[in-house]
Amino acid sequence: MGTIQPMRARRRAKCPICGKAPAADLQPFCSRRCAQIDLGRWLNGSYAIPGEQVPDPNSPEGGGASKDEDEV
Ligand SMILES: [Zn+2]
Repeated sequence: MGTIQPMRARRRAKCPICGKAPAADLQPFCSRRCAQIDLGRWLNGSYAIPGEQVPDPNSPEGGGASKDEDEV
């Protein structure tokens, strides 16, 4: 439990996007661009977010938006 923290280790952390040394004011990212990319991943659901219901297009029952509320 607890809060999800996008940032991992602070010390000697590399940019999670490109692996470069992070900028002092943009840690852990090396640039705003990489920060935006990481943020975009979050918004796109690339990261597993507990409690977040994401419609699964591969689900045999998927495809119906009206069923979202029936599933727990
Ligand atoms: Zn980077």
